[in-house]
Amino acid sequence: MAMSQDQEQVVEVINPGTAGPFLLVCEHASPHIPAEFNELGLKQEDRLSHAVWDPGGEDLSRTIAGRLGATLVAGRMSRLLYDCNRPLSSEAATPSQVELISVPGNADLSETDRTRRSDRFYEPFRAAVSSTLDALAAPVLVTIHSFTPTYFGAHRAVEIGILHDSDARLADAMLANAGPLSDWRVERNEPYGPADGVTHTLKVHGLTRGIPHVMIEVRNDLLIGEAEVNRIADGLAASLTQALAHLAKSEPAEAHHA
Ligand SMILES: [Zn+2]
Repeated sequence: MAMSQDQEQVVEVINPGTAGPFLLVCEHASPHIPAEFNELGLKQEDRLSHAVWDPGGEDLSRTIAGRLGATLVAGRMSRLLYDCNRPLSSEAATPSQVELISVPGNADLSETDRTRRSDRFYEPFRAAVSSTLDALAAPVLVTIHSFTPTYFGAHRAVEIGILHDSDARLADAMLANAGPLSDWRVERNEPYGPADGVTHTLKVHGLTRGIPHVMIEVRNDLLIGEAEVNRIADGLAASLTQALAHLAKSEPAEAHHA
């Protein structure tokens, strides 16, 4: 017997009750699709592809959370059911095509279908991020993603992307001190940026609160194997810690008002 809808886990708060300041968010942690959706009609070879989730994203997020002593909010459902990093107004919240991968189960969804998906998969996730941030005195929001090394047949050279929307404070501080990430090719707003609609979580939870925030994208072929995940997590944890210390020094007034 399949798990009933009200028992299903849409979002997981890992290592709750930490003192902060960092709160990590991994929207695309899971490839899980409840049985009733019939795998959204995906081809078998696409079932665990980057269209469905961010491979390696949760391992990396959990490892960084451990390094920083941070709480992690992770999605427990496939992004194809509802992409928790998109508003309902965006077609990309329930895409019927992702890069070269078609998603038949998302074709011809009515507005009622889409709203039902949002209520079931997005709203509990949004609420968990919001209430976890509410519990922290001076939170810093960090969202973590992985991206595919090959996109529409082209290889991507960037290895780590540091992304931001209109508030670049934390991203600037990370990019200004390349030391902890000097082993990797790091770029600003690559391989995606605000124009691609990927900063939804940053805008809803970071910009509106006026708290420091950043989105991190890591190429998923670098997240294979515990040693490499540990090495990247060490670099990112050090980079975030140093960047926040730099912000606290340069913006003491804002820190007091936060
Ligand atoms: Zn992602």
